[in-house]
Amino acid sequence: MNLKISALEFIEEVKTGNISVEDFISATIDQIKNIDEKLHAFLHVNPESVEQAKKIDKKIKLGEKVGSCFGMPISIKDNICIKNSKTTCASKMLENFTAPYDATVISKLKEQDAIFVGKVNLDEFAMGLTTEFSAFGPSRNPWNTDYVPGGSSGGSAVSVSAFECVASLGSDTGGSVRNPASFCSTVGYKPTYGLISRYGLISYANSIEQIGPITRTVKDTAFLLNIISGLDPNDNTTIDSGNADFLTDIDSGIEGKKIGVIQEMIGDGIDPAVLSATNDAVSKLEGLGAICEPVSIDMVKYSVASYYTITATEAGSNLARFDNLRYGYDLPLEGYEFNSYISKARTKFGPEVIRRMILGGFVPSAGHAGKYFLKSLKVKSKLTKEVNDAFTKFDYLVAPTVPVLPFKIGEKIDDPIALFLVDINTVIANLTGIPSISVPFSISNGLPIGIQLLAKQNDDKKLLQAARALETTVQLPEVPI
Ligand code: GLN
Repeated sequence: MNLKISALEFIEEVKTGNISVEDFISATIDQIKNIDEKLHAFLHVNPESVEQAKKIDKKIKLGEKVGSCFGMPISIKDNICIKNSKTTCASKMLENFTAPYDATVISKLKEQDAIFVGKVNLDEFAMGLTTEFSAFGPSRNPWNTDYVPGGSSGGSAVSVSAFECVASLGSDTGGSVRNPASFCSTVGYKPTYGLISRYGLISYANSIEQIGPITRTVKDTAFLLNIISGLDPNDNTTIDSGNADFLTDIDSGIEGKKIGVIQEMIGDGIDPAVLSATNDAVSKLEGLGAICEPVSIDMVKYSVASYYTITATEAGSNLARFDNLRYGYDLPLEGYEFNSYISKARTKFGPEVIRRMILGGFVPSAGHAGKYFLKSLKVKSKLTKEVNDAFTKFDYLVAPTVPVLPFKIGEKIDDPIALFLVDINTVIANLTGIPSISVPFSISNGLPIGIQLLAKQNDDKKLLQAARALETTVQLPEVPI
């Protein structure tokens, strides 16, 4: 069974009767069994996948209506709720939590007969960018298992890249879909804020985060967006995309489009291999008829500081509910007074989450808010203005997704500031609410490099057209697994 096909190819193969859903899902589960011990993308594998596949095959055989996913195997980041299935956020705090309802994206995919083959690994509560902060052990990069796969949606990117599923859903607060997509050579999409419902996504920093697909092709991302986007009465921040069809006209190209090359993202601190890939991408975009010019976004230099201040503040509030009274685990009440019980219960969080909690308590507090939290909001507003101004001149912006190549597991784990800085190119899309995509572009010394394209708010369809155009210019080697 060829597991290396795209989502749209899978659908075609099933529709034409070339493959059965059962055979494909069984082969997928075998692939997980064979390879996941090494990669650790999965936290739980759905034991009912094959049974679900059989049911879909039966519907096809009887000529009954089948949803547009035709039993496609999808993995789901373990901070998105699937009813009656464990949702741990890769935290000991939620190790035994079973979700009582489906996230909106899950209901939508169920309606279209997707099969959730399992829940995949992440940095605890999506805080991190290597998957090393998972309480259940790191995931490994399929391109070289000594290296990090990126994060926080590391399990999602690994599972797509290693053919353990056809597509995955992750979440992106400051790059968590695009960073692992770049490190594992997959497509990763962060939509316009509000395009996809967050209902059933366990919040980290809800004012800026979005669920996003990780796929093998840009068209697969467009296909999934068609299913999972849209207004949701359960999430008041969702926007009406007017039932946009992201797949039609995806091959329109970028002839005559103007693209700004963000200068602050190709200067100091960039790995020479990433710089050379970016220059190459710019030439390729020009070869497709686009006009590329430098653009400066001055606030980029403050964006990481602003991002971590805002997200720590929101995390501090969002994670207050994990006090072991409302959500939690089995810790007997005896022997504690109220506050000491909660303090004790919260020691279940890992060190990175605790670091964010402490920061998130301090930066918005009385006497300090002006210097930290409010200042960060000002940076966010100024950045948004600068980015919007850039889009009066340009159709798209381009930059490397991550300024460095994937690094070794353990290499940066003890240096939080060095880790934070790796996010410099991705956080601006979240702070400004604009859509952004990472397209696999190059391999340097066996390690992947992704190129990031950005567009203005609600230009998701147009952004996918540019990403598709760029994708057609690259031919990458196969992942060595
Ligand atoms: N690395 C960033 C953080 O730790 C991004 C995480 C994310 O997008 N969920 O906050």
